[in-house]
Amino acid sequence: MTDKERAGKIYRILRKHYPEAKCSLVNIDPTQFLFSNILSPQTTDVTVNRVVMEIWKKYGDAESLMNAKLTDLEKIVKPAGMYRMKSKRIKASARILMEEFGGVLPGELENLRKFPGIARKTSLVILTEVFNKIEGIIIDTHNIRIAQRLGLTTNKGADAIEKDLMKLLPRTAWKMWSHTMVFHGRALCTARKPRCADCPVRKLCEYGKQEELRVEPAGE
Ligand code: SF4
Repeated sequence: MTDKERAGKIYRILRKHYPEAKCSLVNIDPTQFLFSNILSPQTTDVTVNRVVMEIWKKYGDAESLMNAKLTDLEKIVKPAGMYRMKSKRIKASARILMEEFGGVLPGELENLRKFPGIARKTSLVILTEVFNKIEGIIIDTHNIRIAQRLGLTTNKGADAIEKDLMKLLPRTAWKMWSHTMVFHGRALCTARKPRCADCPVRKLCEYGKQEELRVEPAGE
């Protein structure tokens, strides 16, 4: 079996296993979603969703946020961690949005990267979820770890891993591959100890096959 065939099989099996897989950041308004992505490092999606709703309740739009008093904003952002940096980024992004884009979130990768705190991964999240444009594979820590364990990449960096996966998977699978891996990484293929014995793709996984060999048969 080629790696392409193996990746396709893994994708189909895990998609069936996690039919509920999707982006867990609330996406009601494009601008709000931009701020959610600025808030998201080093915290949970549940906290991001709560904090961004509070920001929205107080300010309501990018123009008000651009003029917000930094210390007031910091109080709301605090539960999401790194609140000084995130508050500054939100204010600066609100200004860029208003002054460069007339208050309308741009739908191009190069423009999204003008916002502080929005790198390639988060730009792809916004393009995918807000604009339904699939221009790459979103690679987070779950995606890195699982692609390496599956033996679909020997690379360590996110950009190189993304390129490897883009060669193995059809574009139609790029979006749901990322979401599915996040669910798989939380449920079975966890960072601390993967539960290979319960994994539906064990026989297609390099690490899983090695793990099988390490487990001694009962009675020996
Ligand atoms: S077999 Fe183990 S390492 Fe491989 S994907 Fe499943 S849980 Fe992860």
